[in-house]
Amino acid sequence: MEKLKRKLMTFMRGRYGADQLYNALIISGMVLYFLGAMTDLGVLVIVAQLLIFWALFRVYSKQIYKRAEENRKFLKWWQPNQKKLKLFFRRFKEIKVARFRKCPNCKTTLRLPVKRGKKTVKCPTCHQKFESRIIL
Ligand SMILES: [Zn+2]
Repeated sequence: MEKLKRKLMTFMRGRYGADQLYNALIISGMVLYFLGAMTDLGVLVIVAQLLIFWALFRVYSKQIYKRAEENRKFLKWWQPNQKKLKLFFRRFKEIKVARFRKCPNCKTTLRLPVKRGKKTVKCPTCHQKFESRIIL
């Protein structure tokens, strides 16, 4: 077991390894593969295999600078989307206790307690007052 570990370490020396883009490629690859298998859409399986192949290519790549640059670009695109995705799930999780509204003045997302009807809300960021109506 030790021997195998050492062999693997020698093999991985100077190679790029896993990063956030690797994780994203593997996860989306597996999701697509699963969807493809469920729906009989062969094209999804092919795309999934390409994504996983790309992920593995990047892990064993020796062009570390290029791979790091790809990851940096990916993170730049992904981080704002990740925020939106988190808020999307939070809306569902807190649907019984809170509503999320954007301040019309500064665009900050505010978390408001659920109280039906019209209400005047004061934005804590820009101190602007606006009307918020919660129907459901
Ligand atoms: Zn505001």
